[in-house]
Amino acid sequence: MVTPAQNHRLRRVAVLSVHTSPLAQPGTGDAGGMNVYVLQSAVQLARRGIEVEIFTRATSSADAPVVEAAPGVLVRNVVAGPFEGLDKHDLPTQLCAFTAGVLREEAHHEPGYYDLIHSHYWLSGQVGWLARDRWGVPQVHTAHTLAAVKNASLAEGDTPEPAARQIGEQQVVAEADRLITNTSDEATQLVDIYGAARGRIDVVAPGADLSRYRPGDRGAARAELGLDPRELIVTFVGRIQPLKAPDVLLRAAAVLHEREPDLPLRVLVVGGPSGTGLDRPDSLIELAAALGISARVTFLPPQPPDRLVQVYRASDVVAVPSYSESFGLVAIEAQASGTPVVAADVGGLGVAVRGGDTGLLVAGHDTGDWADALRTLLVDPDRRAAMARRAPVHAADFSWEHTADGLLDSYHRAVAGYRRSPDLAARRGRGMWKMRRLGGVRA
Ligand code: UDP
Repeated sequence: MVTPAQNHRLRRVAVLSVHTSPLAQPGTGDAGGMNVYVLQSAVQLARRGIEVEIFTRATSSADAPVVEAAPGVLVRNVVAGPFEGLDKHDLPTQLCAFTAGVLREEAHHEPGYYDLIHSHYWLSGQVGWLARDRWGVPQVHTAHTLAAVKNASLAEGDTPEPAARQIGEQQVVAEADRLITNTSDEATQLVDIYGAARGRIDVVAPGADLSRYRPGDRGAARAELGLDPRELIVTFVGRIQPLKAPDVLLRAAAVLHEREPDLPLRVLVVGGPSGTGLDRPDSLIELAAALGISARVTFLPPQPPDRLVQVYRASDVVAVPSYSESFGLVAIEAQASGTPVVAADVGGLGVAVRGGDTGLLVAGHDTGDWADALRTLLVDPDRRAAMARRAPVHAADFSWEHTADGLLDSYHRAVAGYRRSPDLAARRGRGMWKMRRLGGVRA
């Protein structure tokens, strides 16, 4: 761990999170793991003596310009475009206004106020790249998801990410001083898809709040949530959108119910609408009815962390059937709370879950395969209990403290690299070279 004394060159970091606020309730709309990541990593950096200022777009006229989210963590709500009703796809039109807000804020301070910029998602990357050149400080960028990767595993009814996003991602990869990915597979994707130099990439795993997500009494959790102590509960937690595949879980539950009508199965779906297609709990309610399992499915709106831990504890299994997942914080939180996870073997879920040990990894989204995987654990309480014991041990490797250590290492590398070659010429050359490759971006 880097001590505060070693951080003398890193006093203040500007974190850019254009399209989702760290203050929003995750689990609905555009608020999910990235919000949790931005806030939790900022809290940990602040504990190490680094001030963090998070710039996000104001989405309500009631948003104060500055909010202290935690000691040493300020959220700056930048007015850029209409507060409400701006579609995520229209956000690029507001990047100029957002950038102006960020630059104006810095202009109020003495030169060198921010030591480093950390941008999250490609929209923020575009803003960070301009601010970086203006302020003369390095930019570290985390993409979180890549358009080409998402497009390669679209769910039915999902809208492909536009070419403009791929172009934007390509530019940010070329311009940022360092790139951070959640997994080494993601690092390889940056190299393969966008030609990023591997030496500029740091792999830093995200985490879970392990002081909150801990094993606890299942019976008490069920009583608090009004759930039946005798049922076998399989839970989905997250934004309700096609990419998260909650419908795969419902269909698998229907198969299981048909095969074994006496199994006291309950599917718990926790989260709110997001995105397009099968994005409304209404459509899942209709699907459950069409599958004849309405009486077996319970829906809960997005839950704050202190209730969510009870959801995880109350569950026999947490299912993460996503078509694409950069990491899957829900999988780590569930295991930290002592619950095995059945997850699709995609993206970071293969790292987040130790298949066969703390849960099961399912290849693909075949309903029968999913029904089989769920059954394997549901009918075997001993195996479930063994996995439940191992799950928090595995999850202990993924703390936000650990993440902050990795971020700091990356930040220090960025600062050192920037000091060695502060002139923009080298970077410009790199950017131009990438620009010539744009036509070749692989989908
Ligand atoms: N979450 C929450 N309440 C909910 C549902 C989700 O706080 O009702 C949080 C959850 O704790 C997790 C995040 O939203 O930290 C979802 O992150 P994940 O990486 O699983 O998915 P993403 O949203 O990034 O696709």
